[in-house]
Amino acid sequence: MALEKLASERLLDLHTRGLLRDLRVVGSAADRWVDIGGRRTLLLCSNNYLGLATHPQLIAAAAEAAALWGVGAGGSRLISGSLALHQELEHELTDWKRTEDAVLFNSGYHANVGTIAALVGEGDAVFSDALNHASIIDGCRLSRARVVVYPHKDVDALAKELARTPARHRLIVTDSIFSMDGDAAPLREICTVAKRYDAWVMVDEAHATGVLGPTGAGLVEELDLHGSVDIQMGTLGKALGCFGAYVAGKRSVVQLLVNRARSFVYTTALPPPVVGAALAAVRMVRTQPQLRAQLHANAKFFHRALQNRGIPVSGEPSHILPVLLKDPTRTMQVSTRLLEAGVWVQGIRPPTVPEGTSRLRVTVMATHTPEDLQFACEAFVKVFTEERG
Ligand SMILES: *Cc1c(COP(=O)(O)O)cnc(C)c1O
Repeated sequence: MALEKLASERLLDLHTRGLLRDLRVVGSAADRWVDIGGRRTLLLCSNNYLGLATHPQLIAAAAEAAALWGVGAGGSRLISGSLALHQELEHELTDWKRTEDAVLFNSGYHANVGTIAALVGEGDAVFSDALNHASIIDGCRLSRARVVVYPHKDVDALAKELARTPARHRLIVTDSIFSMDGDAAPLREICTVAKRYDAWVMVDEAHATGVLGPTGAGLVEELDLHGSVDIQMGTLGKALGCFGAYVAGKRSVVQLLVNRARSFVYTTALPPPVVGAALAAVRMVRTQPQLRAQLHANAKFFHRALQNRGIPVSGEPSHILPVLLKDPTRTMQVSTRLLEAGVWVQGIRPPTVPEGTSRLRVTVMATHTPEDLQFACEAFVKVFTEERG
């Protein structure tokens, strides 16, 4: 069969099942309002939670780093690409995370895939929450360790699996804030069972970095679990508004990753403008708690506004607010109608979320104004009223 024909058939199948995806082109910077098809549209589905992606200070930091260090690192970290600028950011992250060491990865995806596969292998077992991010799932698969998926946030089930799974080494891995639901992992309880069964704990702070904790370092900081978590991973591409990721932990663990994580070793180092901007972003987040406070205030306000108007928003008032619609086709229809009403909320369908749980994933930003959120709420009410009627 010609490859082209096979591809067409598969695309048609996705279309029939309501699962075909398309790239929506944004004609302006990642601000709270964006240009979609020439129209000013309120952005309500980005991970740029604090609005830092377009912050003038970070843009200046990127430009300054480009002027000093160039636009590319010119090599992988272990060959010629390890710049003092990378090291400066790693030192900043180490200090922020209160660990012994930290290493940069080119993205959160690289970090999870490389770290899990470097730390466990055949004869070991990874215990992974059912709603963990795809990059964790891929890391588990690549590692060739036995993968035990436990029901979402079910610590009792996790303990049972730990008790009955024979393995040389055990690694528990979990999102801290779950990416599609906005809820938090029971991290304290997980650390307790980990200790009991002699397992290591790895936490993915992708959606909590810059968002939770007294200095924005994440859920580990919020719960003061520094001593109990072995590996803190997070990304620089979400609340920090830049790109790249980090893994922080004990020096020997981090140095093992530098040696053995293939997604670190076999790729060109992060470009200087990104590193310079990320350094400025971390410093800003550490010293400006009002950014987080505004994000949480907006989350609470919008969650209540939707609830009051009968929009089926589920869960806690987090910066990630799922509106569960279940059916993928319906989800995309509602998303399209919202877009027509001037609000962009992406529909999320399988395989990103489990079958039957398609949803709108609403995310607020610290930079949204009360007027923005009011406008969004009216759009939701209009679309949901028309849909029911
Ligand atoms: C987005 C995300 C990642 C991947 O991070 P990138 O830097 O975007 O590659 C990893 N884990 C979780 C939980 C995420 O939501």
